[in-house]
Order: sequence, then structure tokens, then C-alpha cells
Amino acid sequence: MRGVGIAQFGGPEQLELRDDWPLPEPGRGEARVRVAMAGVNYIDIYMRSGQYAKSQTYATPLPMLLGIEGSGTVDALGEGVTDLAVGDRVAWCVTRGAYADFAVVPAWKLVPVPEGMDWAIATALQLQGSTAHYLTHSLFELQPGHTCLVHAGAGGVGQLLIQLAKARGARVIATVGNESKATIAMARGADATILYRHTDFRAAVRTLTQGAGVDVVYDSVGKDTVHDSIRCLKRRGTCVMFGASSGQVEGIAPLELAEAGSVFFTRPHLADYLQPHEVRQRAAELFALLADRRIDVSIDRSYALADVAEAHRHIEGRNTRGKLLVDMSAR
Ligand code: NDP
Repeated sequence: MRGVGIAQFGGPEQLELRDDWPLPEPGRGEARVRVAMAGVNYIDIYMRSGQYAKSQTYATPLPMLLGIEGSGTVDALGEGVTDLAVGDRVAWCVTRGAYADFAVVPAWKLVPVPEGMDWAIATALQLQGSTAHYLTHSLFELQPGHTCLVHAGAGGVGQLLIQLAKARGARVIATVGNESKATIAMARGADATILYRHTDFRAAVRTLTQGAGVDVVYDSVGKDTVHDSIRCLKRRGTCVMFGASSGQVEGIAPLELAEAGSVFFTRPHLADYLQPHEVRQRAAELFALLADRRIDVSIDRSYALADVAEAHRHIEGRNTRGKLLVDMSAR
């Protein structure tokens, strides 16, 4: 089958399209999916570049196929799978191998895709949707009266995070890289935006909150922002550093947390918030919010499998304004 993977860690030039990947066979409890769409996510960059070489949660053995999100049709079932049938429309995330014609996925990770729902929308709501969902509903249960700071508010996760935070009744301050991204974040419901490449966002947050600070910061940028993010919090607030788009963070000193007002700090993995009892429930809630028009999904671009490297360059170049997809039917 066709697939895009790497033989060694490095830049986008390491991504290689081959048509001789063996067709994967589903084992016990697994299903094989004929992939219709794969999602391109920032984690693909960490995996490709070797930043997750030591990760146990997201193992990256070489050589490997990349892509940890997709959608398509069930093509074969392993032993013991009783709640799926060949031909079912499904989507998933957090199992690697989506940049390929076929992927084998544990059956419990497969979410039914409603008849009539676009593959693009179904895919876009998996990894980025589930992330925005656990951040706002589980890790920190946002309520009316809370104020949150969302970094990179015009990105794939960022736009969904703003919408889910608003749906929960919170006030949202979003940081963005430029004016056109500020327009996107405001259209998604942000109450205020800060151009954090040109403005001291820590001072701006204090001004916007009359000195109080925010209840929670959702920081996916990492190295460039995290120390100031901690200083944007209210006393006993929570900093959730869930990504490192600007680079991995070397360390946070415990005393830094005390000095910022006895704040809490966590660095979560999506996989720990997508346990077997949570996968379909999060997806069902996201699909329902979409059907009620309480959230919307932005598809930025879709690429042919041969052009995945271009998608990686687009995301690393800070250009994304929504979801990047690989359309397996495009040549
Ligand atoms: P985005 O579409 O949000 O792209 C990343 C954005 O980060 C850019 O558009 C840019 O926005 C901002 N950014 C800031 N500094 C840099 C930099 N030096 N290089 C590149 N981008 C930069 O990506 P995703 O929506 O796919 O992912 C967002 C983040 O969420 C990633 O860090 C990802 O790892 C993380 N994530 C974490 C999960 C978890 O559970 N831990 C799960 C899913 C995603 P701007 O121009 O506005 O600054």
C-alpha cells in the first residue's frame, strides 16, 4: 500500500512516499480502516523531528509511518471485535499510521461517523476536537465566571478551544501572531485578542482583567511563552502547557509557581484523557455541538499524500488557520 513515513528523524525532507508498505493485518481487538482522510497535526512534527524519541506514550520506532488521526471505512476486523462491521464509517486519533491507504486501529478508539457527515469535518474533530474538549471539560472544568487565556487562538486547536470555552460560559482572551489571525479568533468568539509577537501579553492580560489575572492559561506555544503564562494567573490559578510549538521547555522551578501565587502547572498528553470510556463520549458531544451550530470547524487546506511535506512546512511556518488534511483520493 502507499504510505508516507520516515527512516530517520529530521526535517520535512525526511518524509518519503512509498508504495511498498505491507498491508497491516488487524490483531485481536483491532480493525483495519481504508483511510479516506488523514489529519496533519503538530504532534506529527514532534514525531518526525525526534522530539518524542523517548516518549513511551507516543512511541516512534524507526522506520515508521506518520499521522495519528484519520477517518474512513472499516475494511477488516480482528478477532473479538463485535461492535463494528465491515463498511462502517469511522474516525480516530492517537494511533499512528494514518498517512497511508490503510491503518490498523484498536476498535475502542474508533468513533462512528454519522451518515452524511463530511470526512473532512469528522477528521478535524478527532485530535484537535478531543484536545479542546478535555482541556475545557476535564482537565479544567470551565464555568461561567472563569476567564481563560488561549495562546495561538487562530490555530487548529486554538479555534476549537475558544469555541468550547465560550460554550461553557467562560470569558476568553486569545493571543495571535498577526491581525488577520486576530480577526479569526474574534470570529470564533474571543472576547479580546493580544498580538503577542509585538505586545507584552503578560501586561496586557493584567490590564484586561483589572489586575486580577486569569483562572487558567492554555499554553501550546511553550518555550517562548510559558514563564509569562504562569505570571498571567490569578492566585492559585492553573497553567496547562499542552504543547511546544516554539520549542520544548527545559524546566519550571517549583519556587516560580509559588511566587506566581501558589499556582498549579500541568503538562498533559491527550492519550491520558482519551481512555476507553471517554473516546466515543467526547466525539459524540463534539458532533452534537456541531449539529447544534454551537461550534464550527475551519478546514485550512487539504493535500495529496505525495504533498505531506508541504503540509508540515505550512504548520511549522506558523501559517495554519484551521485544520490541515491529507485527502487520500487526491493525486
Ligand atoms: P496550530 O495550527 O495551532 O499551529 C501552531 C501555532 O502555534 C502557529 O500557527 C502559531 O500561531 C503558534 N506558534 C507560536 N510559535 C511558533 C513557532 N515558533 N513555530 C510554529 N508555530 C508557532 O497547531 P495545532 O492546532 O495542530 O496544535 C497546536 C498545539 O497544541 C501544538 O503545540 C500541539 O503540539 C498541541 N497539542 C497538544 C495536545 C496535548 O494533548 N498535549 C493535543 C493536540 C495538540 P501564531 O502565529 O498565532 O503564534
